[in-house]
Amino acid sequence: GLAFVLGSLLTRGIIKPINKIIHISRKFSSGDFSHKILLDSKDEIQELGDTLNMMADSLEDKIKKVEIKNQQLKAILESMVEGIIVTDKSGHIISLNPTVEKIFNILKQDAEGKLFLEIIPNNDIADIINYVLKNGKFKSCEISLVWPVHRYLEINAAPIFEKDSISGCLLVIHDITEIRRLETMRRDFVANVSHELKTPLTSIKGFVETLLEGALLDKENSRHFLQIIQSHANRLDNLVNDLLDLSHLESQEIKLEKEKVNLKALTDDILASFRSQFKKKAIQVSNDLNRDVFIIANKEKIDQVLTNLIDNAIKFNQEKGSIKIYSQDLDDKIKIFVEDSGIGIPEKDIPRIFERFYRVDKARSRELGGTGLGLSIVKHIVELHGGSVGVESTEGFSSKFWFILPK
Ligand code: ADP
Repeated sequence: GLAFVLGSLLTRGIIKPINKIIHISRKFSSGDFSHKILLDSKDEIQELGDTLNMMADSLEDKIKKVEIKNQQLKAILESMVEGIIVTDKSGHIISLNPTVEKIFNILKQDAEGKLFLEIIPNNDIADIINYVLKNGKFKSCEISLVWPVHRYLEINAAPIFEKDSISGCLLVIHDITEIRRLETMRRDFVANVSHELKTPLTSIKGFVETLLEGALLDKENSRHFLQIIQSHANRLDNLVNDLLDLSHLESQEIKLEKEKVNLKALTDDILASFRSQFKKKAIQVSNDLNRDVFIIANKEKIDQVLTNLIDNAIKFNQEKGSIKIYSQDLDDKIKIFVEDSGIGIPEKDIPRIFERFYRVDKARSRELGGTGLGLSIVKHIVELHGGSVGVESTEGFSSKFWFILPK
């Protein structure tokens, strides 16, 4: 009987703490570290409990660090401008970031776990992934994407290794559409400038040669030739001046000295300088701007905007036509219109009319002394003032150019 009592007391003393250890260890294994093993003995079981408590503390600490690292990685991936795709060794997508969702118009939850080609039907990229997974080597190339929208992409693909074997592929996708667009624009611009310079230069050279070869002695003709040379030299002068204006406006350092400008008074001064041209074409002009309207702007530049628009309104107007200049109040902004009764602009040309060197009729514009840069200078100046420009036009009837400026 005594042996039984002693035996059961002893077993209870061992089994109870062990049960406690099992219970709390189960909580540890499910990730709950909020409880600790607390025993009040001083034996080996107590030591086991303390060791398990220490292990739990260090595990909790490590899990916390991994979680923080994961959060940081997620934040980096989500804020990256480059697209990131990670695949496993069989080419199934493991993860991708929001930039990839945007570029390919797909959703992360639809893509994860699927084969790359099932989600993004692009053989060029699939070939790169296959190459990297097969050879374990880095590969970089540029591709042109036609779906969902036309884009140029630079793809950098790298293998992911686990120990010594390839476990997946990491794709870094750079959208270089804008860079390519700017390169094309720059190339076109250089080609356009060269062409615009070459035409008057060839004419000047031709007429100078004719004069040197004897035409100089023919008084009547030589005067005519010299007038042609002069008009081409003027064209070159206009072109170089417009190019200098544009490059100045486009340079980052430009700082506008602003002052209080009375639009009506400024327009009156400009119209006075065009008086002889109005007379020549018998054009009726009206300046209906409100005398009390003032804006804070760079006077010289706004003068250039109005001058370019009025100059076009004369050049592309009919004989006995009309030009009206008026404004509309838009609270803290003002919209200024320069309306003419001229040849108008075909609807298809309107979206491109403010581009450099864009003209509806190249020959006619050159004949009238135009450089094709006037409207792009207008757009630049207005945008530098925080405004916008536009045009409404009916071909063969009228054009209404407008610009909005903050007051
Ligand atoms: P430019 O007048 O030197 O040719 P612009 O940049 O000022 O160059 O104008 C570009 C083109 O826009 C012109 O060649 C012309 O075809 C068209 N355009 C501009 N203003 C008018 C207007 N008021 N009426 C009709 N067409 C216009």
